[in-house]
Amino acid sequence: MRAQPIASHFVNGAYLEDAAGAPLEVLYPATGEVIALLHEATPAVIEAALAAASAAQGAWAALRPVERARILRRAADLIRERNPDLAQLETLDTGKPIQETLVADWPSGADAIEFFAGLAPSVTGETIPLGRDFAYTLREPLGVCVGIGAWNYPSQIACWKAAPALALGNAMVFKPSELTPLGALQLAEILAEAGLPPGLFNVVQGRGAVGASLVSDGRVAKVSLTGSVPTGRKVYAMAAEGVRHVTMELGGKSPLIIFDDADLESAVGAAMLANFYSAGQVCSNGTRVFVQAGIKARFLDRLAARTAAIRLGDPLDVDTQMGPLISGLQADKVMGYVTRAVAEGARLVCGGTRTQGNFVAPTVFADVTDAMELAREEVFGPVMAVLDFSTENEVVTRANATQFGLAAGVFTADLTRAHRVIAALQAGTCWINAYNLTPVEMPFGGSKLSGVGRENGHAAVAHYTQIKSVYVGMGPVDAPY
Ligand code: NAD
Repeated sequence: MRAQPIASHFVNGAYLEDAAGAPLEVLYPATGEVIALLHEATPAVIEAALAAASAAQGAWAALRPVERARILRRAADLIRERNPDLAQLETLDTGKPIQETLVADWPSGADAIEFFAGLAPSVTGETIPLGRDFAYTLREPLGVCVGIGAWNYPSQIACWKAAPALALGNAMVFKPSELTPLGALQLAEILAEAGLPPGLFNVVQGRGAVGASLVSDGRVAKVSLTGSVPTGRKVYAMAAEGVRHVTMELGGKSPLIIFDDADLESAVGAAMLANFYSAGQVCSNGTRVFVQAGIKARFLDRLAARTAAIRLGDPLDVDTQMGPLISGLQADKVMGYVTRAVAEGARLVCGGTRTQGNFVAPTVFADVTDAMELAREEVFGPVMAVLDFSTENEVVTRANATQFGLAAGVFTADLTRAHRVIAALQAGTCWINAYNLTPVEMPFGGSKLSGVGRENGHAAVAHYTQIKSVYVGMGPVDAPY
């Protein structure tokens, strides 16, 4: 299987290669087969991308917003037309089952492009009456934005960052994860075909060091990172040197709280979606499933039965429900968590094995306690921790006893309790009787160590624009000297 792009990078409206860059092999996670050979960006490629973005941004910002929107809407249509091919490439890049990539990855990216195209023309400033005088504000683009992506939703992440950036008049240089470099190149091609002028969306490949050179460049006004907390700390610190704007979409260890009165099948289904979709490689996953005493036995019975029926296999087969983890390294890491959870006394309900290659069986642990590693650290694999609880106050305190704050969910039939509990939970993105649904209309992001800023929704406008205040004097200046 080959998925070799024309060249490694996309700069100033065209593919660009520089074979002097360190090699970057792209592996199909299901088989380990090399599907493409790319090169990391050299300083010359990075320079070309930043120079192209800086040169193109002013004219783009000067267009009427509807003119920018028209190009973006065309790109969203092209993505939808090509979704089957794009989904196949996404599956090769990530190993995620085609039944997911067909409905989740590029479709969500197209939604973001369409949404921000629609929103941008109505973004305006305000007028502020000041008696005889007045002031007004302009919402201006930031300039050149850098996007850095994780490997779990590579194309969706590229679209979620590019869409508001471009719609609001910015240029972007995007660095995908070194493990999943292919989707962003497709986005660059599609945007160019839709009529985006050269230089406004550039893709450069590479590992962390390439990201670091982008983040520390003086021409960059904003950095949006999706990645882990340790990387977030480094990137945030580098961005602080230049007092750049940041959006940080980082990791989590989110609580999903199931009360006795919850609808059993919905709660079980949500817990599975919250731990097994994309083989558990989802930042907002509800990996601490708190289950109230009265429903625990029935919950675990149904969970074990439904989990055992999950079909692992060839990600390109439409019947496959779970694929491999992204890499051997990630599978090793996940199996390490499994082994240590057993050693710490968690009860293995099902799974717990590495079936072959990078494949790990969907795994459920019960009787997990707050102090165990499995309840504290982000595993980023298909491993669910079920914890017991008795009272509402107790579970809220325990759910909040973490440095992360990305997401949270509550399942209950009691409307008042649902809202009361959500109000008390420290998390940026919450669900009531649902989990992990992230429509573009709804802001998404974390609190505490899970991040700053928000993607999607009207909230993203504030993170890709800045306000210029203009005071207008309408009469003679009254100076005391
Ligand atoms: P990672 O932190 O290892 O890498 C993320 C990106 O940062 C990669 O492109 C990487 O090359 C780059 N990078 C690494 N070091 C850098 C540096 N010093 N300077 C600039 N860039 C650097 O994360 P990952 O393993 O690719 O992804 C998994 C993590 O991402 C998990 O923690 C997950 O929770 C998180 N994530 C968060 C969200 C969210 O929206 N909150 C979404 C998806 C994934």
